[in-house]
Amino acid sequence: MTGEPSPPRGTVAESERTEPIHIDDVRTYVHCPRRYQYAVVDGVTDDTVAPRQARFEAVRTALRAAIRAGPVAGLEERAVERFTAAWNRHTEDLHSPAQRAHERRVLEATIRAYAETVGADHARQLCDTRAGGVGGELVGNDLRVWTMIGASSATDEAQRGPACRLETPLDYAFVENSTLVGVRFIPTPAPLSTLRYEPSWEGRIETAFDEHVDPDTDRFEPDLVATLLETSAVIDGLRRFRDRHDLEMVRTCRYMQIPLFDSRAVTVNRIRDEVTTSVNPVDLTTSYLDHHTFGMTLEHRNAVVDRHLQAVLTAIVDGRYDPTDRWDRRKDETCPSCGYTVCCVDHITSEVRFDGR
Ligand code: SF4
Repeated sequence: MTGEPSPPRGTVAESERTEPIHIDDVRTYVHCPRRYQYAVVDGVTDDTVAPRQARFEAVRTALRAAIRAGPVAGLEERAVERFTAAWNRHTEDLHSPAQRAHERRVLEATIRAYAETVGADHARQLCDTRAGGVGGELVGNDLRVWTMIGASSATDEAQRGPACRLETPLDYAFVENSTLVGVRFIPTPAPLSTLRYEPSWEGRIETAFDEHVDPDTDRFEPDLVATLLETSAVIDGLRRFRDRHDLEMVRTCRYMQIPLFDSRAVTVNRIRDEVTTSVNPVDLTTSYLDHHTFGMTLEHRNAVVDRHLQAVLTAIVDGRYDPTDRWDRRKDETCPSCGYTVCCVDHITSEVRFDGR
């Protein structure tokens, strides 16, 4: 990768649509375009996600505050203190005081596991980055990277509309040697799919991605595809961050996600009255970049993924919300966890058809 300023993605001018698109909404669209319509276009609230999300936000906010506050020493204690204050205000309706106490201990164990696994290292690198004179927000609510993508199927450049601003929030970013690293906490490892285990694009990841986007197969890998689209957006967004802040020492950019809640990792030792868990960060950069594009551009890019991201944004901008492609897979795998089943015409129609009425 070179340290040259990033060229605009696509060939469109960077005049901007007024409304930015959030990367989480792109994920929703990849899972189900109709769900995107309900959630984003129509603004229908999905209440099914609220309690779990609130728990995640309590831990994430505590970790960010502890990292922002400064020195590596006391990172875990600062995070637990902030988390305790948030938990005391947490109104999730749990079965019993015992369950509430257990959940709290699991979340505190998560904070400890994070601090031990990468938190201390990342906090130190963040302090070093600040000491190196890097300005701008590096932690928390206002830290978001963005990329501009031409969302149009028009082949004539003159016909193309303004580019979409695609935004991704990050929890923190730091410079490690000559690399700008962006980090985002996510609730669970599930959206990472096989990206947790496959360190390179070539092979199973490439095959899964290609088959998902190929209309002639019925393979359906929305989590894997959405995560790769997010990686594409973030790495380009980090390059833009680097250029805006004149980070001349930065040559490459990387994106890491840290799942906070992995129920399979939690162990309860009743004899020692101890709850432990583990936190396993996943660097998505090598799963995303392909060596052919890298050879052509000398940047961490993947032309196949980048093109599909542009296609998805074009579909969003064009208002294409029909969810019926790969309907059997979508109905079996996406609808069961969807909060819109009671109002979704596609789902209801499918159920009626199933009943043979
Ligand atoms: S019920 Fe199924 S088809 Fe309808 S919005 Fe939800 S996921 Fe999409």
